[in-house]
Amino acid sequence: MRTALKRVEVYFAVHEWALAESVILYVLDRGVKEAKRLVIKAGALQSIDRDIFLFAVQELSKEYGIRVDEVELVIEDPVLKCNVCGYTWSVDLASLDEHVREAIHFLPEAVYAYLKCPNCSSVDFEIVRGRGLSEVLVEGRG
Ligand SMILES: [Zn+2]
Repeated sequence: MRTALKRVEVYFAVHEWALAESVILYVLDRGVKEAKRLVIKAGALQSIDRDIFLFAVQELSKEYGIRVDEVELVIEDPVLKCNVCGYTWSVDLASLDEHVREAIHFLPEAVYAYLKCPNCSSVDFEIVRGRGLSEVLVEGRG
């Protein structure tokens, strides 16, 4: 029973570990061996399990020989751009209904079902920002 449960957890966490590894490789690539703080910015449409992700970053940094004191994950609101009128707007996820937020968390494409351009009401828009990791800031020790 215990083994089966663990296997499920690992399966769902693969995504977080892959993202964490891309962060660590990026940091390594910049020649950083020690960091006081790593600040990782991710779009809200990139559904990330915060605890698993932060744990994965800590573990992988050890594995790759980087000393990191603190890791922080900052979630950025998505930015959308209307394909009809060109209007660009930022979505305040906190202002959405909980069921909408949840749907978007599990399936980012759900934004197309729930949101529309606030300027012309078109549902033909694109996601300018909000997917993937947008920025990794390294605060050195000193
Ligand atoms: Zn529009």
